[in-house]
Amino acid sequence: MPPTPPAQLIDSFDRRISYLRLSVTDRCDFRCQYCMAETMEFLPRAGVLTIEELIRTARLFTELGVRKIRVTGGEPLIRRGVDELFAGLGELPGLETLALTTNGSQLAKQATHLRDAGVSSVNISLDSLSPSRFHAITRIGHLDAVIRGIEAAITVGLKRIRLNAVILNGVNRDETLSLTRFAIDKNIHIAFIEEMPLGHVNVGGKALAYVSSDDIKAELEQHFELQALSSRADAGPSRDFRIAGTRTEVGFISPHSHNFCSQCNRLRISAEGRLLMCLGNEESIDLRDLLRSGYSDEDIKTFIIDSLSIKPERHIFDRPNEPQIVRFMNATGG
Ligand code: SAM
Ligand code: SF4
Repeated sequence: MPPTPPAQLIDSFDRRISYLRLSVTDRCDFRCQYCMAETMEFLPRAGVLTIEELIRTARLFTELGVRKIRVTGGEPLIRRGVDELFAGLGELPGLETLALTTNGSQLAKQATHLRDAGVSSVNISLDSLSPSRFHAITRIGHLDAVIRGIEAAITVGLKRIRLNAVILNGVNRDETLSLTRFAIDKNIHIAFIEEMPLGHVNVGGKALAYVSSDDIKAELEQHFELQALSSRADAGPSRDFRIAGTRTEVGFISPHSHNFCSQCNRLRISAEGRLLMCLGNEESIDLRDLLRSGYSDEDIKTFIIDSLSIKPERHIFDRPNEPQIVRFMNATGG
């Protein structure tokens, strides 16, 4: 019998894990250029964690002290059974924040259900306000559906709504201001994410594409006063500012230009059930195998605690010209 595990997750660098990002599918109804190749091979359905396995996993992590779960993908809202999933996650004792990252395409019809299930934080990806450019970036997506999704999220009263924008040179570098003004106009938040070199996708060359958060911040400061916010406990890698005179916060997520690993409080689970220690490293354990091998809850929790000894100290995005990690973001869970 393995010993009864203590109800907490602390790694070898004394970082306490309280946040889990759960990828519930690798599939998506978009093919964003920086995230996926034009033609993708997806996991066979049997390879993806079932809804029951996802809920069980989430429960085990909350029993180990995880207080926030963000559901992501792929596009989580196209996963079959997603209503049941959110209902199950919403009932987990100990879970303080149930969050979602979505491309917004299905949000108009699902916003009410998500609110009722207890989702309190939604990040919606939006890289352009130009319909033709949006279509080019996502290869398939329609901007109007996403705008309707954002409006539905606001109307039903989802608590914390944030736009996520990946800014790329030669693609949407000229939209930082208009996207920020859009967020201010809607009384929601916005974050600018530096592109990360994951998978073999090519948008006119990696070095050309990448724009640093500091450049974007400097540009915004020519138009707005940015007031630094003291880090929220769950802020993670985002450096957040209030835009003076508005209810909007702007965040900068900078894996290249600011190393945030020392405060890392998170783990990820990929759609196929790999427990990933770090977005920028390969260390992981096969949780799906454990879930399907008849182990008890206590055994699996012990495996999870033991696995933290391989969580690396920091990620390795130091060479922006090279895609060093060959997992696609949709499989990892962004
Ligand atoms: N499909 C959902 C969406 O687009 O919001 C959730 C999954 S997506 C992988 C999560 C986030 O990762 C999105 O905001 C997306 O813009 C971001 N993302 C994808 N590939 C990225 C990359 N190579 N570098 C930085 N961010 C990336
Ligand atoms: Fe799909 Fe999100 Fe990746 Fe775009 S970023 S392809 S919406 S998973």
